[in-house]
Amino acid sequence: MRWQGRKQSDNVEDRRGLRVPGGGAGLGLGGAILILAVALITGKDPRALLQLLSQVQESVPEASAPPAGPPADELGKFASVVLADTESTWDAIFSPTGGGYQAPKMVLFSQAVRSACGTASAAVGPFYCPNDRKLYLDLSFFDELSHRFGAPGDFAQAYVIAHEVGHHVQNLLGISDQIHAAQQRAGSEAEENALSVRLELQADCLAGVWAKHTKIELEAGDVEEGLRAAAAIGDDRLQKLGQGEVQPESWTHGSSEQRVRWLRQGIKSGDPNTCKT
Ligand SMILES: [Zn+2]
Repeated sequence: MRWQGRKQSDNVEDRRGLRVPGGGAGLGLGGAILILAVALITGKDPRALLQLLSQVQESVPEASAPPAGPPADELGKFASVVLADTESTWDAIFSPTGGGYQAPKMVLFSQAVRSACGTASAAVGPFYCPNDRKLYLDLSFFDELSHRFGAPGDFAQAYVIAHEVGHHVQNLLGISDQIHAAQQRAGSEAEENALSVRLELQADCLAGVWAKHTKIELEAGDVEEGLRAAAAIGDDRLQKLGQGEVQPESWTHGSSEQRVRWLRQGIKSGDPNTCKT
């Protein structure tokens, strides 16, 4: 992606290096409950997150003032430019005359962060909190994406941001509320998970819609990077990596094949109305 020198978003809150109160002493039961809340919102398996709890917060950084102004480091600038591009893209899709899209804030953090959905460790990965309409991103996830999941490249990273923005779009359109209401009525965990998968695959498709319309000039191999990332974070692939066995009824995000298919669908159509998962 040729993103350098492009406009950065005004909607970035840089909280990297900020200490989360209470984070240093471990999250405790309250934290565990909050993590469960985050898990429900992001669709992640809370059991997997609770295993991660023990790893949370040995060394939260010392308190310091957040850097003023937009991020000046390479990765921070990149995330900010991608966010700015999603703003103009979705604004144009929401209303041809502009102004119809309320952009989300993006919070950059390191290690742990407080959100209106609870305190979260970086281990939960990037997430969107509908309560405060903010995306939360620890940029070290991009390292993990590249090295642990084998999906390097700036477009792979942009896809992650665009997926979380996709959850914001779902929130604005009232789709998230509908799904959560349906989950309350669901008779089984498998049914609840199936609804979560549909929400996640739709966010992938909406990320594809952004990719179709982005004004950032793409380079050869970019789309493949995104598709590789979608495949890398499919539930089947992650389960194989984590526990060695694959249990489709516990999926909350969809298989690699499904994630690639819906991302591709968005890229092909560029039309959110075709994202009916
Ligand atoms: Zn998601």
